[in-house]
Amino acid sequence: MPSGPGDVLDLIRRGRATTRGDVLEATGLSRMTISQRLDALLAAGMIVEGQSSESTGGRRRRSLAFNTAQSHVLVVAIDTTHARIAVTDLGGAVLVEDCIDVSVTAGPSDVLDRVVLAMGAVLDKQGLEPDDLCGLGLSIPGPVDPVTGRPSQPPMLPGWDAYPVAEHLQPAVPGVPVLTANDADAAAMGEYAAARTHLTSLCLVKVSTGIGTGIVIGGRSYTGVDGGAGDIGHVRVSPLSEAPCQCGMHGCLAAVASGRAVAAQLRSLGLEATSGRDVRALLDAGEPEAARLTQAAGRRIGEVMATMVCLLNPEVVLVGGALASAPLLAGMRETLYRLALPRATRHMALQLGVLGEDSAVVGMTRLVVDQQFSPDTVTARLRG
Ligand SMILES: [Zn+2]
Repeated sequence: MPSGPGDVLDLIRRGRATTRGDVLEATGLSRMTISQRLDALLAAGMIVEGQSSESTGGRRRRSLAFNTAQSHVLVVAIDTTHARIAVTDLGGAVLVEDCIDVSVTAGPSDVLDRVVLAMGAVLDKQGLEPDDLCGLGLSIPGPVDPVTGRPSQPPMLPGWDAYPVAEHLQPAVPGVPVLTANDADAAAMGEYAAARTHLTSLCLVKVSTGIGTGIVIGGRSYTGVDGGAGDIGHVRVSPLSEAPCQCGMHGCLAAVASGRAVAAQLRSLGLEATSGRDVRALLDAGEPEAARLTQAAGRRIGEVMATMVCLLNPEVVLVGGALASAPLLAGMRETLYRLALPRATRHMALQLGVLGEDSAVVGMTRLVVDQQFSPDTVTARLRG
């Protein structure tokens, strides 16, 4: 197996090796080579060695850990009605953040100009310069082309198709690598990173103003050849339905079961709601119609997720986004388990995500760190 210093760092960073003995077992390298690798990583500040009280054969075992304080990540998580701008350490812990109201329908130029101002304020607040960042992670509520990093025909973002989002932000952070990802993909990666056990596969369905899913397989985000993997919001579940969708079609899952759809149904009952966040506020206030309609939305989402679960047979399916709630989960359970094959669900957990609104921020940090500390990148950097 490849075993340069970058590969050793990867084992430590992913929690697969926490002692020299673990590295020896995982790589088969000689003790001397392992020492050289670890010395290089320690000298570069990429890992830290801790004290351990345990001892074997009189030897003190020192723990090895990825140095999450060596640099920072600037995260911009754009949603349909607001954007969160945060600085995190390399483990995804938020050090400083701000949340600004934006309307994505105002177009990319207007939204990103306001994001740039907020980025500057957040960096100032923490006393940081662009040189203190190892990357900028941007999540958007739409598909992202994996080759260009630009939005790819995003139904909820009129005017954003193929817009150079990274190039727009770059002058504010000269020389800092910018990584753009879909928000559900970022949220799925955040929950994967936060899980206490190593998960083989995870799906997260994000139900906010729109609906999307993120997929993590073998520790990596699976986005598909065009960035469209998991974009289930526009599966036409009710071809005869008159319900219009933002993509221009009728009867999409998002047209009948998203936060926007539930908000429209609530408005017809005389309640004030336009976005997923508004529905969430009504759920939190104990509004029974919001709970009933959210559960009904969960049933429709469960119908589509049943197919996804049969396709991927994931270990965990998580529910995130503004509508993530007991009624939504209850609705999903009703249909998903009834429609999916028992073999595809018998070992699967279906539950609410644990990170809530933090999932995209934690996930973008992880995606940036995965890129900037990949085995090849680290080995090349250390060889200078
Ligand atoms: Zn649609």
